[in-house]
Amino acid sequence: ADIAELDAQLVECRACPRLVAWREQVAREKRAAFRDQTYWGRPVPGFGPPDAPLVIVGLAPAAHGANRTGRMFTGDRSGDVLYAALHAVGLANQPTSVHAGDELQLRGVRITAPVHCAPPANKPTTVERDTCSRWLRAELRLMSPRAIVVLGAFGWQALLPVLADAGWALPRPRPVFGHGVHVELPGQRGALHLFGCYHVSQQNTFTGKLTPAMLEEVLTRAADVAGL
Ligand code: SF4
Repeated sequence: ADIAELDAQLVECRACPRLVAWREQVAREKRAAFRDQTYWGRPVPGFGPPDAPLVIVGLAPAAHGANRTGRMFTGDRSGDVLYAALHAVGLANQPTSVHAGDELQLRGVRITAPVHCAPPANKPTTVERDTCSRWLRAELRLMSPRAIVVLGAFGWQALLPVLADAGWALPRPRPVFGHGVHVELPGQRGALHLFGCYHVSQQNTFTGKLTPAMLEEVLTRAADVAGL
């Protein structure tokens, strides 16, 4: 199997009844500003080259962002912040990501999430997180990441058991999420550098809890150890 096959299976997934209902309801009802558009309304696959040494792990697609455009962090304010930073540090060929048909390319980075369907209020349940983890586990097994930047505590909590299953050794006690936290995990396929970063949500960026400089700094450190 390769990642293209995995993504093709992922977009057909209907394993979480509440999330299937929500992603489709949002796609039917739409936001007024987007009423002429056809929403994606399905699971959103990872975006970026499958051989990327750097992975960014978010939370879940936004209802009117990735759930509309079908591409991670595309078409919403969180994505504006993330892609501007990726471009600023040389990891994206353009600073904006408005729709999936543009020329955006990532260099050595793949963006994915522990939950692939938009959840009500951006809050997946624990059961939904655990149900979806098989997709992230499969994706990481098909990749050879050297560094992962995790955006927010939810992604961190979701990712640690997936990493353990995929062959990396977790320290005990388990590392706690924080902005700028950096942990090196030994593994059979080489060491993995894990970085914590506050999520690029409007709640964090509008209040200045996460500034572009803070985000760029974590991305630069992670790109460095990933050999980019
Ligand atoms: Fe499937 Fe994940 Fe979507 Fe649940 S959240 S329906 S497991 S893709």
